[in-house]
Amino acid sequence: MLYQRSSQLFAEAEKVIPGGVNSPVRAFKAVGGTPIFVKSAKGAYLFDEDGNKLIDYINSWGPMILGHAFQPVVDAVIEKAKLGTSFGMPTELETQIAALAVSMVPNIDKIRFVNSGTEACMSAVRLARGFTKKDKIIKFAGCYHGHSDSFLIQAGSGAVTFGSPNSPGVTAGTAKDTLLAKYNDLENVSTLIEANKNEIAAIIVEPVAGNMGCIPPNKGFLEGVRQLCTDNGILLIFDEVMTGFRLARGGVQELFNIKADIVCFGKVIGGGLPVGAFAARNEIMNYLAPLGPVYQAGTLSGNPLAMAAGLAMLQALDNDRAIFKRLEEKTAYLAAGIGKVLKANKVEFTINTIGSMISVHFDAAPVFDFQSAAKGDNETFKKFFHGLLKEGIYIAPSAYETWFITDALSYEDLDFTIQAVDKVSKTF
Ligand SMILES: *Cc1c(COP(=O)(O)O)cnc(C)c1O
Repeated sequence: MLYQRSSQLFAEAEKVIPGGVNSPVRAFKAVGGTPIFVKSAKGAYLFDEDGNKLIDYINSWGPMILGHAFQPVVDAVIEKAKLGTSFGMPTELETQIAALAVSMVPNIDKIRFVNSGTEACMSAVRLARGFTKKDKIIKFAGCYHGHSDSFLIQAGSGAVTFGSPNSPGVTAGTAKDTLLAKYNDLENVSTLIEANKNEIAAIIVEPVAGNMGCIPPNKGFLEGVRQLCTDNGILLIFDEVMTGFRLARGGVQELFNIKADIVCFGKVIGGGLPVGAFAARNEIMNYLAPLGPVYQAGTLSGNPLAMAAGLAMLQALDNDRAIFKRLEEKTAYLAAGIGKVLKANKVEFTINTIGSMISVHFDAAPVFDFQSAAKGDNETFKKFFHGLLKEGIYIAPSAYETWFITDALSYEDLDFTIQAVDKVSKTF
């Protein structure tokens, strides 16, 4: 495959956009080479500027759960655009999508729409702090909650200390209010809470982690965190930006029957347009302006095009109750196929899956937290990534990313992918 035009476009982009991209994960920093510029996409496939067709396992990093250019979403956006694209005034559409989301997700009475997952998580934490009148939060190493200051904290040595900023520009003052815990390590969470008695407003967690590869919670982990929160007057925030409307109709709360206090959404809820949301029971949501004292706002929040896309997406998921099962079956098929050929080719690997999320790690040991995810062999991953790309398969250009299975993928696409993995892994 040729990527001449993509390379040219990237060179031009680099002159006027930092690193040529508007979000760093799009750059090929971890794998080498230059990003591919997309011209269009339909169903399970991307079509790039050089005319290559690629099977897409990123799917805009999650939103396109029903495939690209899903017709009901496209139609809804076109129809709405003709009626005006933004008003800064309420529309009926906002109530429709809010009511549908509230009916699909357990334990929420009200939902507020924003423009990104970052905004949702940032606002959820502010709300939790305002509501509990406490300052500190606990987050888990390897969990991503968007790029707002409080969340850009990485594991230092020994997590029972203050986090240290991992991005310049995050002040020490902000970093000291974010405590870091180890994913799937309940003991660690408990110790942190003990050491900061009555100071913790919230624990924010990806209830199924998807930003260090795909890492499902160990049995009892989320239940334990829930109990610790309840016992200590801490709000539990489920960041379901990735898992919401993906792993089940009602997200991880439904899947594992665990109640969060605040839930964050993004990705699928916008059907491919820039949408985020956060939701909770009345008692908490009524603490938000204009009803309550915690301020949160947005000129384009609840934008009619975005709401139309999101509503069409949620309706499609709500109407097709078999979808999550179907996605899970495709994922299991792919995982089994890839596992079989990697084993036959004597490659050391671990595959994690849940629902429509899957990640392939090049290390034989179990991957259950950030440290174990970091052990994967990146040199092998680079060969894997570029090898698959040559075969016409696009996975995320980083070993820490989850692949997303869409309903648009056919079993022929999956077989083609498994054959490609066989071919590529013979060259490791
Ligand atoms: C993608 C993601 C975010 C950030 O959402 P943006 O829309 O990129 O700001 C937050 N949390 C999780 C779990 C995510 O996967």
